[in-house]
Amino acid sequence: MLAGWVNGTRDHGGVIFIDVRDREGLTQVVFRPEENAELAKQAHTLRGEDVIQVSGRVAARLPGTENPNLPTGDIEIIPNELRILNRADPLPFPLDTEPQNEDLRMTHRYLDLRRRRFACNLWIRHRAAKATRDYLDSQGFVEVETPILSKSTPEGARDFLVPSRIMPGKFYALPQAPQQYKQLLMVAGVEKYFQIAKCFRDEDLRADRQPEFTQIDIEASFVTPDDIFALTERMLAAIFKAARNIEIKTPFDRLTYREALERYGSDKPDRRFTMELVDLGETFRESSFKVFRGAKGLAFIKIENSEWKSPIVKFFNDAEKTTLQSKLNIQEGDCVFFTADKWEIACEVLGRLRLRIAEMQDLHGRARSPGAPDWDFLWVIDFPLFEWSADENKWNAMHHPFTRPKAEDMLLFEEEKFSEVRAEAYDVVLNGVEIGGGSMRIYEPELQDKMFEALSIKPNDRESQFGHLLRAFRLGAPPHGGIAFGLDRLVMLICGEQSIRDVMAFPKNNRAMDLMTQSPAEVDPKQLRELRIRLAGAAPESRAPSGPK
Ligand code: ASP
Repeated sequence: MLAGWVNGTRDHGGVIFIDVRDREGLTQVVFRPEENAELAKQAHTLRGEDVIQVSGRVAARLPGTENPNLPTGDIEIIPNELRILNRADPLPFPLDTEPQNEDLRMTHRYLDLRRRRFACNLWIRHRAAKATRDYLDSQGFVEVETPILSKSTPEGARDFLVPSRIMPGKFYALPQAPQQYKQLLMVAGVEKYFQIAKCFRDEDLRADRQPEFTQIDIEASFVTPDDIFALTERMLAAIFKAARNIEIKTPFDRLTYREALERYGSDKPDRRFTMELVDLGETFRESSFKVFRGAKGLAFIKIENSEWKSPIVKFFNDAEKTTLQSKLNIQEGDCVFFTADKWEIACEVLGRLRLRIAEMQDLHGRARSPGAPDWDFLWVIDFPLFEWSADENKWNAMHHPFTRPKAEDMLLFEEEKFSEVRAEAYDVVLNGVEIGGGSMRIYEPELQDKMFEALSIKPNDRESQFGHLLRAFRLGAPPHGGIAFGLDRLVMLICGEQSIRDVMAFPKNNRAMDLMTQSPAEVDPKQLRELRIRLAGAAPESRAPSGPK
């Protein structure tokens, strides 16, 4: 017996071929009037996406009519019974072509999910999540759920708030991450925690951001960064193996944040192509060309017919040219870009240019260099602990305020040389995408308090926002650290998709709307009254603050 959807019907002079689709794929059913006139007549009425059930016998297809493109292409079903379980209206969009109108697809997402590509993605996601659970379970980790109705955590984005009916005027916040809860679980003695956790961040959306997303969240006590690295590498190997039978190379390379910026202009470098940046500060220290002595700018040299073509080349002396030639190994056909600015800005500008050029030249596709890895994993370590916010005129935590300064930099921290302090923090990068990040945490109440002070969090706010954490740290807190991975991004990469929406069953669109259920939506005034909320009129279009770290 076969049950499924009518994928397509073909009438070959009275003989009707129906492709029935179930979650495994397609099977051909043949209705021949000479074998069963009644059934063939019924089959004539079938339309795409009707739901049917067929009983019959499996027969080999006639020689020459096999379909090598289908796993079931050698056989067909000769039915003796057809039950039409449900009829489908004409579809809002065809399922066998790539529809352009994303809104239409999202409005009928259940139809979209009938397509092979998305059905496959859901399977891959399931296998990735299962491998995560199985692997972490095998290592003694316990999955603990933490509250969705929780309190605002400073992860860097805007919170989603939920008004309390029982305590009017008070609000829960949906968790941006279970960060504080998982640390409190360490204080509770859980020692090895994980959770496949829903997280919520109210920010402007891009292809790889959604207001709600899923993290593989991990925390462990009495561990070193090396323990977290080894655990992560083995877990990712298990995930890739289970999800798509891909073997990944471990251990991953490690690059410091400084090195990543210096060589690739990014803290999530894509190393599947080279084009490394080169610091020419020394070469041009004495240059007569003023761009290189302080002023900003982007310049280029094009090498054509052994000639350096550039508006700036006339400013170089021979020694500078020779050094340039050898440092950059300049060759015919090359184009060299320069920028002169503060270290961070110069790195960032050239880093972006590097990615843009790779895109234009299709360095991940047709122009891939032989031997380039399919899956380039690496650790970026030694992030700065702080970053300066010119807008707020204060230091912010680059990761989050619970991240430990590196032991070697503790003195710098004490001396308040905040720009120089490195964090015991790490990110995992895959093919130029940050797929996870974490840190060793502060577990001493005094150090945590100093950290809040460095971040200009006032004592009153410290108590109201983090009093529970500081108290817990005074009652026997073990050293601990952890990491969290964006499951959606990870699965997106494994599936070869460009957007995390394509690996989520019911994503929101770029205005954070679920078009299928029309959410967010207005609510009954009675509900608002119960919450003691009065609407102040339509809010002006607002912009979310900058994204989380
Ligand atoms: N909670 C952090 C985040 O969501 C990850 C971590 O530090 O474990 O980025």
